[in-house]
Amino acid sequence: MVAPTRLDLSVVIPCYNEEDSLPRLVEVLEAELGEITDSYEVILVDDGSRDSTLALLREVAATRPRFRYLALSRNFGKESAMLAGLSQARGDRVAIMDADLQHPPHLLAQMLPLLDGEYSQVVARRTRTNDPAVRTWLSRIYYKLMNRLVDVELQDGVGDFRVLDRMAVRALLALGETNRFSKGLFAWIGFPTAVVDYENVSREAGATKWRLRDLFNYGIDGVVSFNYRPLRMSIWLGLLVTVVAAGYAAWVLLDAVWHGNAVPGYVTTICVVTGFGGVQLIILGVIGEYLGRIYAETKRRPLFLLKESSNGPDDTPVTAVLGAAHELEQQDLAAHGRSGQA
Ligand code: UDP
Ligand code: MG
Repeated sequence: MVAPTRLDLSVVIPCYNEEDSLPRLVEVLEAELGEITDSYEVILVDDGSRDSTLALLREVAATRPRFRYLALSRNFGKESAMLAGLSQARGDRVAIMDADLQHPPHLLAQMLPLLDGEYSQVVARRTRTNDPAVRTWLSRIYYKLMNRLVDVELQDGVGDFRVLDRMAVRALLALGETNRFSKGLFAWIGFPTAVVDYENVSREAGATKWRLRDLFNYGIDGVVSFNYRPLRMSIWLGLLVTVVAAGYAAWVLLDAVWHGNAVPGYVTTICVVTGFGGVQLIILGVIGEYLGRIYAETKRRPLFLLKESSNGPDDTPVTAVLGAAHELEQQDLAAHGRSGQA
């Protein structure tokens, strides 16, 4: 492990195929962070990129002592990459941001002072000025629905761009779940949270890794990760369908008694069979979502594996998140113990 020196600020940045954004990012960060504090580190996490991101990170870390990097053993996804960074962050305050400069670093100067005192989290909320209309519209509907469904409150435009104090970081690391919907987790840990608004920025270089399909899956994750209301809704849907079906059956029966069974109801049969088939599959899907999550959680696999880091080859931990949180506690103890003696 790296010596548990405490710093004022850590900036954690997940990077997946960001070779086009990185040079500019590093330049901007150096300029901006230098203004804020002289005790900072930037932790760039390579999330199994297929381009020259990792090579760039090695170079950056070699020439700039304040820049560190971690490389995951494959693409684990942004959630895991963020977590890897968080688990290694040594700052009393930790900022999380994207590599593509869509999270403008100059905003940090505005966000960080809010952390002192009453707030434990400061989150940047973007406006949706340059987003495609469809996406804006979908997001709006999504959040309307979501907030009906889940127990934590989620806000449109509030993403992963935020700064946390040590207490919030520790809380996040202590959540050991495998399925991580970080937007929800940030809300779930609570603590007083301040919001800073900013104008939406378009990606400067490279391409987004999100496709509509991912957004859809992300949406389902959000709902299923935070409660079991969909299961409850399945029961209601089942009851509703049963009641309608019973009514219809009664009507068909009476009709047959009164008028005789003149024409066999081919169309009705097909409609009922396919309709019920659909409802059952959806409900099975809902149950399956939860079952899959239980399965994933019971395996207790690490959330990421590291293959390399700027800590040096012998010093690269292969980390599970629970282990990481534990290590961090140890570091904290060591650090406090030391300052206590001094
Ligand atoms: N990212 C990552 N792993 C992934 C996908 C994305 O670490 O599997 C990083 C990416 O490099 C960027 C951030 O997550 O720093 C946000 O990604 P992107 O810009 O593609 O998302 P968008 O801004 O379009 O939501
Ligand atoms: Mg982006």
